[in-house]
Amino acid sequence: MDHIFGPVNSRRLGRSLGIDLLPKKICNLNCIYCEVGATTTLTCERGEYVATEEILAEIDAYFADADRLAAIDIVTVTASGEPTLHSGFGTILAHLKETTGKPIAVLTNGTTLMNAQVRKELALADVVIPSLDSARIESFRKLDRPATCLDLGEIIQGLILFSHEYQGKLWLEILLARGINDSDEDLEALQAVLGKMRVDRIQLNTVARPPLESFALPVSEQRLQEISALLQEQNPGVQVDLLAQGAPTKDTASAVSADEQVDIVDEIIQMLKRRPCTAADINKIFHCGGLEKVEQYLAPLVRSGKIHTRRHGDRLYYLL
Ligand code: SF4
Repeated sequence: MDHIFGPVNSRRLGRSLGIDLLPKKICNLNCIYCEVGATTTLTCERGEYVATEEILAEIDAYFADADRLAAIDIVTVTASGEPTLHSGFGTILAHLKETTGKPIAVLTNGTTLMNAQVRKELALADVVIPSLDSARIESFRKLDRPATCLDLGEIIQGLILFSHEYQGKLWLEILLARGINDSDEDLEALQAVLGKMRVDRIQLNTVARPPLESFALPVSEQRLQEISALLQEQNPGVQVDLLAQGAPTKDTASAVSADEQVDIVDEIIQMLKRRPCTAADINKIFHCGGLEKVEQYLAPLVRSGKIHTRRHGDRLYYLL
């Protein structure tokens, strides 16, 4: 399976099956905190970077097994880059809705919403999680390193417009990096935008996994708490979540049988292709039954050079 990964036990969404629409890092940003790696194609052009039919066929083959459908709560459309840049995005969303009947979530960097066609396609989703890390051009450029075709004012206009048109759940994610977009001035600018949007949740995040650039640093727990409290006060009625704290995962865990172990190793590799994980993350996502068990899966992969480790802060991450 090239475009389907998981299911994983997502902190935000429950048991979620991921659909990755892009074959490599195609994005209109090159964020310093990106977990996927450097953007290989920095573009604002929508295109059929992978044949839409190929993705649809993979979805159909996956769900031919009814047990797989029963095992998930939600389908999450994402990408190793920005998913709305795939020109088949709307077709794929519509197909997923029709064939699975499950709620669909979309993770997007939120930069393409001035495009009316993208807004129309996104309207099919049940949950849209766009990002807005900064409403100040200096911080936006430093943190998200946009393609020259992007204009921050237009991105913000698109987000505001979409938030009022869209009928589903809208969770705005804000990632804060120390010394880059965590100043009072940055927060004032963000709040000015939030005041014009309709959002259901604000998801506050920081650099919690090995970033693309070593100078992308997490904000302190104390600062995160302060900012969270401030946003909560300024946005009554909106739920403010601290993603960096690792909210409890919906507990749908069950023990893994021996027959499933080979599949799990494959799934762990697929997951690590997309984002670095700690042993604890892997244990939680795949219900391995403890860190010792995770070690049994990972040690041979490390020895064979299929995966490697990298330390970030006090945590050891596994990555491809
Ligand atoms: S974090 Fe998301 S938006 Fe930023 S470069 Fe990576 S894939 Fe693109």
